[in-house]
Amino acid sequence: MIKFLDLQKINSAYQEQFQEKMKLILDKGWFILGDEVKTFEANFANFCGAKHCIGVGNGLDALVLILKGYILQGNLQKGDEVIVPANTYIATILAILQADLVPVLVEPLIETYNINPNLIESKITTKTKAILLVHLYGQLADMDAVIEIGYKHNLLIIEDAAQAHGLKFKGSHTRAFSFYPGKNLGALGDAGAITTNDDALAKTLFSLRNYGSEKKYYNEFIGFNSRLDELQAAFLNVKLPNLDSDNNSRRAIAKRYLAETNNSKIVLPTVKIIDNHVFHLFVIRTKNRNQLQDYLLQNGIETVIHYPIPPHKQEALSSWNSLSFPITEKSHKEVLSLPISPIMTDDEVSFVIEILNKY
Ligand SMILES: *Cc1c(COP(=O)(O)O)cnc(C)c1O
Repeated sequence: MIKFLDLQKINSAYQEQFQEKMKLILDKGWFILGDEVKTFEANFANFCGAKHCIGVGNGLDALVLILKGYILQGNLQKGDEVIVPANTYIATILAILQADLVPVLVEPLIETYNINPNLIESKITTKTKAILLVHLYGQLADMDAVIEIGYKHNLLIIEDAAQAHGLKFKGSHTRAFSFYPGKNLGALGDAGAITTNDDALAKTLFSLRNYGSEKKYYNEFIGFNSRLDELQAAFLNVKLPNLDSDNNSRRAIAKRYLAETNNSKIVLPTVKIIDNHVFHLFVIRTKNRNQLQDYLLQNGIETVIHYPIPPHKQEALSSWNSLSFPITEKSHKEVLSLPISPIMTDDEVSFVIEILNKY
């Protein structure tokens, strides 16, 4: 059986280093916001080429905190509209709602699954104050076009980079990351981070994630408890040095899938520049998606659907259920994610290709 993602195997390679870290932390007896968090924040900021990194509890909180931080700074106000791709994991949209802002959904390009920049301007109103981009599946969104629109309309650009660790980003925007175990850089539990070049925002966020308090028991904001856990930071410090090489392994697998899969029933992803993709997911499309998924499973290949139901069709967002986003809906009906973890062997990749070509 080729697993979609073998987290046991990926993490057991680090077992000794993880155990050393656990011993170190147990010996020190310092469990919250200690040296490991500080080190990770410095390492990850450096890795991303950002001035600041703020470790937080998870990816959703990273997004909410960024938006709340901008509200506290006066860059955003309650009720402002935020442009966001209709085709995203629901966390992106939940974050906007939880920050008391208004999500305005925009269709993706079917080729890249990322926001269609040509549709953004028609959604801009006097209340539009920000664009929250997503680099879905690990592919850079069309940043040149989005940056131009943002500049023209004086909009804040924020990036949901939860699927895009290690991507060569464009511009110096504030970004949210998740280290959920299945991400390209995954912790052994929940974890997240924000990177930013904005000194004032960083200062606010360091406080906001920790009860709105910089000095213990003195609270300047109505804050959150969303700190990056010390143990998770330690595990991430162990894994971060391998992120680039893991992403290169993903790219090598993707190149083979792209070059060797040849089946008229299967639409491969459009990848314009391979270096602008970190292949968090390798997503194909086909008319009878469930049939293909069953066929692959019968042949010992596990796949996953990202995602089966678009945000605007979710029960939780029932007031949006009658809205129509045909490209988003089509993609949710037809997409299927192939295994693409950095530990896949050449033989496994060959096998997946062989079985796909026989379908
Ligand atoms: C995983 C993910 C999130 C949320 O991250 P969590 O750590 O699970 O809260 C947000 N946005 C996108 C696009 C994601 O893939």
